[in-house]
Amino acid sequence: MSDDLLNLRNRHLPTENQELQQQLETLVAQARLNEQVMRRFQDAELRMLGVSSFKELLQYVLQEMKETFDLDVVTLAVIDPEYEVRRMLIDIGIPANEYPGLMCLDNPSRFHRLCGTSLAPVLGQYNVASRAPFFPRDTPPASIAILPMVRQKKLIGSLNLGSRNEARFAPGMATDFIGRLAAILGVCLENVTNSERLKHLGLTDPLTGVHNRRYFDQRLQEEVSRAQRQRFPLSCLFLDIDHFKQVNDQYGHQTGDCVLREVAWRIKGQLRSIDVLGRYGGEEFAVLLVQTDMASALTIAERIRHSIAEQRFKGEGDETLAATLSIGVATLHDCNRTQNAETLAQQLVARADQGLYRAKQGGRNCVMVVMPESDKASSVEVR
Ligand code: GH3
Ligand code: MG
Ligand code: MG
Repeated sequence: MSDDLLNLRNRHLPTENQELQQQLETLVAQARLNEQVMRRFQDAELRMLGVSSFKELLQYVLQEMKETFDLDVVTLAVIDPEYEVRRMLIDIGIPANEYPGLMCLDNPSRFHRLCGTSLAPVLGQYNVASRAPFFPRDTPPASIAILPMVRQKKLIGSLNLGSRNEARFAPGMATDFIGRLAAILGVCLENVTNSERLKHLGLTDPLTGVHNRRYFDQRLQEEVSRAQRQRFPLSCLFLDIDHFKQVNDQYGHQTGDCVLREVAWRIKGQLRSIDVLGRYGGEEFAVLLVQTDMASALTIAERIRHSIAEQRFKGEGDETLAATLSIGVATLHDCNRTQNAETLAQQLVARADQGLYRAKQGGRNCVMVVMPESDKASSVEVR
């Protein structure tokens, strides 16, 4: 190599070196950014995997995720042809309008129109005609990502992300991270749905479909504490089918079961959705009437008694039979915040039970109220 060439090369070396240094710095910065993004996704995945209820998952996905990923809209579409998810929401006490970002679709046809059969993520500009169902019409995003969730080769819904930034989502962009996020959300969704179903089964009476005693006892504690905090009256009914043993003896156990189911449904038919009904034992039911004073509780108890006594029951075969209920009523009013909630709950139930006992002694097919000991009159009969 000539001396001239060598000199030229030596003169360029520092510049080359500087360029390489700059490239390296850009790469390191990019790697750091990637690491941050990856960590954010990992955190989100761990959060979703750690939730213990459907409500917690909804709160995370529909509310927190927006901030975490700096998005303007996040919605969740769930394919719910059998209304299973919608029924579960009612069972766990989530009103239909509490999470507008959750949409339950009767069938997957919209997805197939949008994503084709490949069910690949759809990224790009928002377009009212085809993408409206997944995003709010009043504040539509500029660019969107619709990420189908598939479990066991079946489409179960989609995670839908929207941004006011037009360039945020565009066709052809890599979807590795968001695609994985949607896949994990699919697993979590299935998981919480199953665990809510199990919880529900553990708190439901299989014969009548109403809640069981375990659920009633849990709610009793909660409602007594709430009544104390908010100074609302709370009433409790104990209801027992009269001479039910005779129904079994005369018509058979199967007909007995039919009557039990129908009694549960007639009682439920007289209650509001906020009231609590539980099958307390064999042919005994208990009801909590929330924010209900004694006079209203008596009216409701009478309505229930009528609904049973006035219409005959269908048995297993063609036979019809009459049945009646005895009901005990007790009310917690002006309860003291300093009193122990558990003791108050026990006293309430004990008085309702005592009322039931008196109703049986008083000839059955009647309602008896038991006042707190501090009150003058100890019981009142309604028939
Ligand atoms: P009373 O008016 O004093 O309440 O009389 P009763 O016959 O209703 O009360 P008792 O406690 O003597 O009998 C309750 C009956 O309820 C006996 C039991 O076999 C029946 N029973 C409890 N659980 C079930 C059930 O799940 N299905 C059916 N068919 N019968 C049940
Ligand atoms: Mg009975
Ligand atoms: Mg009984």
